[in-house]
Amino acid sequence: MKKFAFIGLGSNIAGSESTPVDQLIAALNKINSSRDISITSVSSLYKSKPIGLTNQPDFINAVIKVKTNFCPEALLEVLQGFEKMQGRERIIHWGPRTIDLDILIYENLKVSTQNLKIPHPRIFERAFVMLPLIEIEPSLSEIYGYKSSNTLENLANQSIVKLMDNNWENWRVGANLSDKI
Ligand code: AMP
Repeated sequence: MKKFAFIGLGSNIAGSESTPVDQLIAALNKINSSRDISITSVSSLYKSKPIGLTNQPDFINAVIKVKTNFCPEALLEVLQGFEKMQGRERIIHWGPRTIDLDILIYENLKVSTQNLKIPHPRIFERAFVMLPLIEIEPSLSEIYGYKSSNTLENLANQSIVKLMDNNWENWRVGANLSDKI
């Protein structure tokens, strides 16, 4: 049973790849290579200033929409496996990271367990999530019953710039919004 989900991607250190942008491209290719996940939309790439711990490099962010056969818990496990493969270590809370993959939304499901909160609790407070999310899903406000114009106004003081349009140099090896599932 395929379900839709939105995944947030972020990176501010290169790790095994050459740059944070390369980290996002590598993550996209890993996600796309899963038999049980099809990427259906990709946002532009954005650059944002770090929040919380401000003394660290700027972040590169994006949001994708997927169709998946995985339940939320299994999807989280798969994404955490990809994070690990790309050198993710959880050392400092809100600290620098090679790659961060968050489940933002999964259908209209609400999940609140120790490991998993859906919708992701900080979606509506973060310009680096809301801007790419609304870019690929303008009707989201209707689904979730908030006014996107109000939300974006509240986020206007957060520093964020669009870096690259949504084909991200065709993911370097060959973008493929395939419909596997
Ligand atoms: P982070 O440092 O942002 O990668 O947070 C990772 C932790 O957040 C993991 O231990 C997850 O179990 C937990 N978490 C809770 N909700 C979510 C979610 N919707 N997506 C990803 N991680 C989540």
